[in-house]
Amino acid sequence: MIVALTGASGNMGKETLKSLLECEEITTLRILVKQDKKSLKEARKAKRKYGARVEVIEGDVRRYEDCLALVRGAEYVYHLAAVIPPRADHFIEEAVATNYDGTVNMVRAIIEDGNTAKMIHISTVALYGNRDEKHPWGRVGDPLLTSAFDAYGTSKLRAERYLLESDLKTWAVIRQTGILYDNMLMNNISDGLMFHTPWNVPIEWVTAKDSGVLMKKIFLATKDGGEKDFWKQVYNLGGGAGCRQTGYETFDDGFKLIGGSVKRFFDPDWNAVRNFHCFWFSDSDVLEEKFHFRSETCESFWKWFSRRHKIYSLGAILPARLLKSLVIKRLLKNSNAPEYWKKKGLEDRVFAIYGNKTPAKKWEDTDLLCESERYASIKRYDPSFDLPHGYDEKKPDRELTAADLAEAAAFRGGSLEGDYKAGNLYQKVKWRCARGHEFFSSPFTVLKAGHWCPECSMPDRKWEFDLLAKENPFFASVWYDSHEKGEDRVYVLTDEEK
Ligand SMILES: [Zn+2]
Repeated sequence: MIVALTGASGNMGKETLKSLLECEEITTLRILVKQDKKSLKEARKAKRKYGARVEVIEGDVRRYEDCLALVRGAEYVYHLAAVIPPRADHFIEEAVATNYDGTVNMVRAIIEDGNTAKMIHISTVALYGNRDEKHPWGRVGDPLLTSAFDAYGTSKLRAERYLLESDLKTWAVIRQTGILYDNMLMNNISDGLMFHTPWNVPIEWVTAKDSGVLMKKIFLATKDGGEKDFWKQVYNLGGGAGCRQTGYETFDDGFKLIGGSVKRFFDPDWNAVRNFHCFWFSDSDVLEEKFHFRSETCESFWKWFSRRHKIYSLGAILPARLLKSLVIKRLLKNSNAPEYWKKKGLEDRVFAIYGNKTPAKKWEDTDLLCESERYASIKRYDPSFDLPHGYDEKKPDRELTAADLAEAAAFRGGSLEGDYKAGNLYQKVKWRCARGHEFFSSPFTVLKAGHWCPECSMPDRKWEFDLLAKENPFFASVWYDSHEKGEDRVYVLTDEEK
């Protein structure tokens, strides 16, 4: 049996490769590896360890022929390859071409190869964008309002939609959350990206290892035709209760290892207060119940991490003030840091993350969710936290009617234009958005996956949710958690900014 894998040298990819090769049934794991130093090194390592079972194709998802060579004869295709932040923030063209064009190539290649391979596409929590503690719990079907200037999130949004609307026969989309991985501390203290995380944003993490185990378990449970319901669905991947924190708690756990804490290392106004994308998943247990892949929590991860990287504990002998300058302050000058945007007068960038609010300069004036009395009750999931999706969700999929679709469309400020016969959730029907754009999309893509108009609601380099939310109650239900009604910005990503 041939299984194909992209992104094998990434954080999740390395664990996936290892995990899949524990399955004896897989005689060949074929990986597509970029011709750069880091990727080729990983490929050589895998060849040394696993020999002929690992077949390396040197190439790039951006080239169609390479994708075709990768998937030829494969029964499963795991598509993990992506250019992620911070790289995606600095190399926008590369991110878009890899994340969007690469996925288009993969889908087309599988179809050309007979459309028999099962594709597992790794999507991302970044699709949701713009979430905060006002709606701390979320689920698949929630609105997709990617954050302004997030080329990664939008390229992944467009990639996912392409797949959902394609003729691919057997697929599953898994929206991956923030990954806890081996090198994460070092990677995070080398870019201004870390200032994009608001202190109070709810985050549900998952470890790279558990993610790799999930990929294996999916294979084992489905290879003989089991778990049929798993396919043609979208899932949120998260580590569950033990992986739910706020942005502040996560930073604090990480900096404890070098003898610090957030309050000793950061000024509170260095970080964004909005325009970020995580939340706690009310539906991440769906994958756990099917595949039982979880064995780690944030706590166990950091324990493992500190044993593995004892060197960081040496930081504890240095004065906090020195570490603050050495480790954090120098990053304020990075072109991905808000302090840099302020200095350069990039007003839209600054407004996107602060709005009309000026964050407090002192910790004692900062309202930290994780230290508040309300935290415990917010952390307990209750269905009243769910955002409405604009139709009767209790109805089984096959019983949804044209009237249900029309109701959902109206909740999005638009209308259902074509006919719909119950039971055809994956067949495209015609819709119209509030701006009059007509488009064809499956009811699954709209009602179940949360996508909407491809012309105005799927940003490429222009984010206008301020305007769209005025006519779209579905968007408004999240947008005004962190934006004011009077805001009328259109955020445009230009090449000169970076
Ligand atoms: Zn539109």
